[in-house]
Amino acid sequence: MQDHYSVIIVGAGHAGAQAAISLRQMNYEGSIALIGDERVPPYERPPLSKEYLAGEKPFERMLLRPEDFWEERDIDLMTGKRVAAVDAMDWHITLASDEILTYDYLIWATGGSPRMLDCPGANARNLFAIRRRSDVDRITERLGKAQNITVIGGGYIGLEAAAVFTKLGKKVTVVESRRRVLSRVAGRELSAFYEAEHNRQGVDIRTSAMVGEIITDDAGVAKAVMLEDGETIDTDLIICGIGIIAETGPLIAAGAVGGNGVDVDDHCRTSLPDVYAIGDCAAHANIYADGANIRLESVQNANDQAKIAAADIVGDGPIYDAIPWFWSNQYDLKLQTVGLSMGYDTEIVRGDPETRQFSVAYLRGGKLIALDCVNRVKDYVQGRKAILEGYALDQEQLADASIPIKEISVA
Ligand code: NAP
Repeated sequence: MQDHYSVIIVGAGHAGAQAAISLRQMNYEGSIALIGDERVPPYERPPLSKEYLAGEKPFERMLLRPEDFWEERDIDLMTGKRVAAVDAMDWHITLASDEILTYDYLIWATGGSPRMLDCPGANARNLFAIRRRSDVDRITERLGKAQNITVIGGGYIGLEAAAVFTKLGKKVTVVESRRRVLSRVAGRELSAFYEAEHNRQGVDIRTSAMVGEIITDDAGVAKAVMLEDGETIDTDLIICGIGIIAETGPLIAAGAVGGNGVDVDDHCRTSLPDVYAIGDCAAHANIYADGANIRLESVQNANDQAKIAAADIVGDGPIYDAIPWFWSNQYDLKLQTVGLSMGYDTEIVRGDPETRQFSVAYLRGGKLIALDCVNRVKDYVQGRKAILEGYALDQEQLADASIPIKEISVA
């Protein structure tokens, strides 16, 4: 292993891998190290809570690039390694193994680690997050013997996992602390639809419910989840999907400005010289959030910020102004979201949720700012354009699902 690289990328998830790929696509000739703490080459994370959990997709088909790609492109992929410290004033990093590597540019792409419960029994041996391949492998090892599964957290992770387990014939309970599921990412109408859908499929959804204790046996295996109101839910397996915490420790310790994530400018530069941050861990002023400083936890953001940082290293790159988009697959429902609904003042449902093909439009000051589309790809495509154009749309027409979004008059 050499001890100097032109670019060191820390984190080999979607963002880090894409940064290395983009640098080479932009004909960057400097040396590149891509360091990840998992022991496998970069892979797609979205299938972890969907097809991989369901056993429908082998890991090999989730690799972002074939295994020999990295060597072919002269990218030093270092797996199973953690970065312990950054010295930005001396342009070097220290690995947990004490090795020191110097760089010209550092790209921090470490994502986040799952937030875990803070209650008695929280370290039960059959309680798992879903963030890494190894998490899912440990879950599937136990799945055969598990009949009752408790999912804590009603975000994308929790609901996607609940859908998979239900399809596998398990009895699933979802415990969500907020008054509705998906509250961080969607409006009331969509939450109500997904709650009803999961109930219809046999999932027991508990909202406004807090976990008080995980009751374990002498071997540390959870037997039940006790809610704060004293009710107990028998369980053989627990999934914890209660959000992530940005992995920024060494960078903040090195003096980078940040709080919830590392702050970056519109070229993904941190406050430290020649240090970039991209993906889930990068807090940036997002024009689709009215300029608020936010972290976006999505594949889109990871890939797009990676390209911005790479372009800035190669030359005068563009600024980050990509429109956010997300997706989630649960049962036969394909949810596609474009834009950010935060701060919306009007919510309009297009179509009848009973038909399982509808969209929810979010407006602020009359302008369309986001769309959640359930099994309605056309709305997603046309809505994306309308959000980008930033027009105020006629709300009566918007509520009429028979009128394509591209034909709606400007208000
Ligand atoms: P999430 O979207 O933050 O949802 C977690 C939910 O759990 C929130 O509603 C949260 O409420 C609630 N919660 C927090 N503490 C709780 C507790 N003690 N008991 C019960 N509920 C609690 O996080 P996630 O679903 O774990 O997802 C993690 C990451 O993976 C996110 O970055 C997510 O976007 C990503 N992901 C994305 C997709 C997709 O795009 N389809 C799929 C899977 C995962 P509070 O908000 O009050 O904390």
